[in-house]
Amino acid sequence: MKTAIYPGSFDPVTFGHVDIIKRAAALFDKVTVLISINPLKPASFSIEERKDFLLRVTKKITNVSVDVFGGLLIDYFQEKNADVIVKGLRAMSDFEYEFQMALVNKDMFYKAETVFLAADAASTFLSSSMVKQIAMFGGDISAFVPEVILDDINSRLQGR
Ligand code: ADP
Repeated sequence: MKTAIYPGSFDPVTFGHVDIIKRAAALFDKVTVLISINPLKPASFSIEERKDFLLRVTKKITNVSVDVFGGLLIDYFQEKNADVIVKGLRAMSDFEYEFQMALVNKDMFYKAETVFLAADAASTFLSSSMVKQIAMFGGDISAFVPEVILDDINSRLQGR
């Protein structure tokens, strides 16, 4: 039984994240999408909203669960007896930071393996911040986020 943890801000979840979640769910027996509370990265959506969005978009994927954690990822990883950390890589710009994080996590706990999944070509340009900027100015974000959360994102961000 292999368990994966896919951590991130998910502020909000996009099709890019959904692609990684689905592919991780096909590779591992269990996947936990972990909303990491990062005090250095102010969020636009509350933890509750982000969790609710993730629950809605992963509803049909039976081996995926959603959780929230405010401490060190590696502590959660050990506590849950997980096998791998999953990360999505969009471009070289993601690589440097993610590579550093993978090494730091392995240094803190030697069993912590990070698996990188290359972003799907169609979502390699996609980020939560881009989605937020477009939605704030009334642009169409339907190609970037699942329909089940589209209206909620728009109504929260428009007119800000
Ligand atoms: P962001 O960098 O957009 O704020 P997160 O912190 O929520 O996103 O990212 C969580 C994880 O998902 C990271 O490993 C990140 O590289 C990955 N990710 C984010 N957007 C995409 C995408 N469009 N395609 C593939 N992976 C992505």
